[in-house]
Amino acid sequence: MTAIRHALSITRDADFAQWYQEVIASADMAEESGVRGCMVIKPWGWGIWERMQALLDRRIKAAGVQNAYFPLFIPLGNFVREAEHVEGFAKEMAVVTHHRLIADGKGGLVPDPEAKLEEPLIVRPTSETIIGDAMSRWTQSWRDLPLMLNQWANVVRWEMRTRMFLRTSEFLWQEGHTAHESRDDAMAETLRALEMYQAFAEEDVALPVIVGEKPANERFPGAVGTWSIEAMMQDGKALQAGTSHYLGTSFADAANIRFQDREGSQQLCHTTSWGVSTRMVGAMIMAHGDDDGLRVPPALAPFQVVIVPMLREDDGDAAILEYCAGLRAALLQQSAFGEPLRVLLDAKPGKAAAKRWDWVRKGAPLIVEVGPRDMENGKVAVLRRDALWNLDNGKPAFDFAAKDEFVTNAAAVLQQIQQFLFDEAHARREANIVRDIDTIEALDAFFAADKRYPGWAEVQWSRPEGGALDKVVEQLKARKLTFRNVPLDAEPANGACLFTGEPAVERIYVARAY
Ligand code: AMP
Repeated sequence: MTAIRHALSITRDADFAQWYQEVIASADMAEESGVRGCMVIKPWGWGIWERMQALLDRRIKAAGVQNAYFPLFIPLGNFVREAEHVEGFAKEMAVVTHHRLIADGKGGLVPDPEAKLEEPLIVRPTSETIIGDAMSRWTQSWRDLPLMLNQWANVVRWEMRTRMFLRTSEFLWQEGHTAHESRDDAMAETLRALEMYQAFAEEDVALPVIVGEKPANERFPGAVGTWSIEAMMQDGKALQAGTSHYLGTSFADAANIRFQDREGSQQLCHTTSWGVSTRMVGAMIMAHGDDDGLRVPPALAPFQVVIVPMLREDDGDAAILEYCAGLRAALLQQSAFGEPLRVLLDAKPGKAAAKRWDWVRKGAPLIVEVGPRDMENGKVAVLRRDALWNLDNGKPAFDFAAKDEFVTNAAAVLQQIQQFLFDEAHARREANIVRDIDTIEALDAFFAADKRYPGWAEVQWSRPEGGALDKVVEQLKARKLTFRNVPLDAEPANGACLFTGEPAVERIYVARAY
């Protein structure tokens, strides 16, 4: 085996955090804006987010949820009606207090005291309280229910520790908000949204997730119950990739969302909310990226096939470009994942090899190079991003295929790449989960400080509440560990609680987390 010269300067193994930054920079996905925690999303990063939006939006609409849009500003009075909700978000909220600036006499501008708002407006950190207001107007009778809404929006949470895509102060997301007649209906919707997220993560993002309920200490502020999808990153850490909340009737009570039931009496609605954000882009990077950069699952790739002509800046170029344009046109007739292929002919000036490595770092699933000799022979040279290297000689693993054959097979190969990325992430996750830890000592050994990629432990617990739960959470915190979720499909408990020694009632994941 020959040593490979990778396309990035930092490997995942050497420094995962630095590697993450280099992937984003070298794939030209996003950059810091100068405003803390706020990023500029560049076309390639945005294109991936747009694909995520399109695929998730389709799933949201298929469930009968309708899109709408609500204001960015929420009157403070609105927000403070649900006490737990406020308490949870108060420490990370941006507030607008003035609507005009005036000169300060030193060449600068200051808020005009004359233009102070009577009631401050908060910049939405989430929209339950303002959507609840609308719901209270829109639901009169049981016939108006369920009311199922979603909005695509940006929200602001003043995060102290930020990292591009994973945790930003301004982030983009969809937030679903639904109102129902009964607890059962609202719970069914909470779990439906969760299953939808699982399907989106696994089928579209090729990201295997564990689906389960969050422990009480990790609940959304004001929620009765919170469920999540959790994904393992390549450094063994967990990432909460989406959440679904059953809100009971407390938000309905706060916003006065009532309806006349089938018997004619006034009832409070049971509400839910659920969200997936631009964090999913970070999840995709950390789950699928390699030492050559990003690997975008074909279902998400803005361009699934990139054609790179080997131009010489001479008279021969026209013929090569024509051959490549024909190849692109033929590929556009093919479909994968139920849509026509997305194909770019990268005809910009520049060396083909440099362009090739740019597309490798950007993670385009298939890169096709065409030179004069390929053209003469009716061939193309194909690189699969998920199988980039010939391990015998340390060189890029080009497959020289007949052009027509490549066109016919392209969709199937893209499906294979999608499946390969999922299978690889799934196998890695399963190899890094332990399920037989039954003492704190064994937990400490598994998460030993010097261990590079610790993985997750599924342990049995007694589901302590209140102060008893706080104590356990403290115990974990001292070890830099967190609870992830109680998986819905786990084996029943059959032992003692790892933390309290009492009989266990269920299983829960413990992990380091982003
Ligand atoms: P929440 O409304 O707190 O349940 O958040 C919904 C989802 O948004 C979470 O499951 C995360 O995936 C994501 N999220 C929360 N905070 C951030 C953040 N600061 N940056 C990016 N995504 C976030």
